[in-house]
Amino acid sequence: MSAVVVHYAELALKGRNRPWFVHALVRAIRGALRGLDVRTVHTLLGRIIVELGAAASWEEVRDRLATVPGIGNFAHADQVPLDVESITEAVRAGIRGRTVPSFRVTVRRADKRFPMSSPELERLLGRRVQEWTSWPVDLSHPALVIRVETLAETALVSFEKLKGVGGLPVGTGGRVMALLSGGIDSPVAAWRLIRRGCRADFVHFHSYPILSRTSQEKARALVERLTRYQLRSRLHLVPFGALQQQVVLAVPPPVRTVVYRRLMLRIAERLALQAGAQALVTGDAVGQVASQTLENLAAVGSVVSMPVLRPLVGMDKEEITADAQRIGTYEISIVEDEDCCTLFTPRFPATRASAERVDVAERTLDVADLVERALAGVVLEKFSFPMLQSGSFVRKEGQE
Ligand code: ATP
Ligand code: MG
Repeated sequence: MSAVVVHYAELALKGRNRPWFVHALVRAIRGALRGLDVRTVHTLLGRIIVELGAAASWEEVRDRLATVPGIGNFAHADQVPLDVESITEAVRAGIRGRTVPSFRVTVRRADKRFPMSSPELERLLGRRVQEWTSWPVDLSHPALVIRVETLAETALVSFEKLKGVGGLPVGTGGRVMALLSGGIDSPVAAWRLIRRGCRADFVHFHSYPILSRTSQEKARALVERLTRYQLRSRLHLVPFGALQQQVVLAVPPPVRTVVYRRLMLRIAERLALQAGAQALVTGDAVGQVASQTLENLAAVGSVVSMPVLRPLVGMDKEEITADAQRIGTYEISIVEDEDCCTLFTPRFPATRASAERVDVAERTLDVADLVERALAGVVLEKFSFPMLQSGSFVRKEGQE
């Protein structure tokens, strides 16, 4: 029977909490495979076994499992009765049509009751494969690894181990509120927390109707993409143009950017509290742009009491870009848009805005009122993956 054998990423390290992590991962896998012909998803001897029905497409299953945090690696496997005959037959069927420069057989006995030792079975299967193919054995750098895992009543035979995203199952790390601009960095920052087991809610600040709707469309597209990793997402769209107009009237140009960022964090913190999130996430990296000096990060972060997580803080743009490409957000991020930050942004922002200086500038504003008014205009959109109708796999469930 066709199956997938899934090995956890870091779960092995989690001691007494382990069953809880495993259960979360099983649920995530069930969710990700929703709508496909899957018989069962269950745990067995330190692995998760996904039994596929005849109608399940392996390519589709593969693509969906590739974005489930908590999976270390996974392989399409043949699940056969636990006897040498059946295992040998599965190996023979699996190598049919292949030609490789070298191979090895790797046996792992998850259940030790199987009468042969692992090396014995490896040698026996290796000899058979050589008889059929004359491929040379290479134990250290084989082109093909034939894997056999013996379980209590069945064996799994697989030929291609694929890397999962790693990390921890979504939800096991709590909830965060990620500030999502249309840029390259913030989606990567959110993804890094999602991969650490956090569910991310998103907040995007836009200047519609002063600017076009493009930034909102980008934010939606980015959330759709990231929803593949966490299956359900919520996006808060916050009107920010009116606040910016107030800031322009009252605040001198050099500190405006910092004042905008502070307002964003204050609003995001309120939304986070409403959503039950325990931290904010931004895509800041030290020194990347003028507004991201240590002084400015401190001046911005000081207005909220919730932790502000900046997972990209020490990364180079190149590394961030590589991540963005890998997770599929890069192509969306590089589309030209009119980010709210291009509106009323000074040509020469202060690189060292002390918190005191910004405090003084902010005194001319009714900050509390600006925050309340922005919150009153928030639009919430929900996303889920996969969707069950044909067409796009991500559905925007509509607005609230
Ligand atoms: P990004 O590539 O994520 O846009 P950036 O290098 O352009 O980042 P900034 O524009 O200084 O940096 O923004 C820093 C962070 O502030 C962003 O990573 C994001 O988390 C948040 N942010 C900026 N603009 C917005 C916005 N319009 N809506 C939501 N969050 C924003
Ligand atoms: Mg930006």
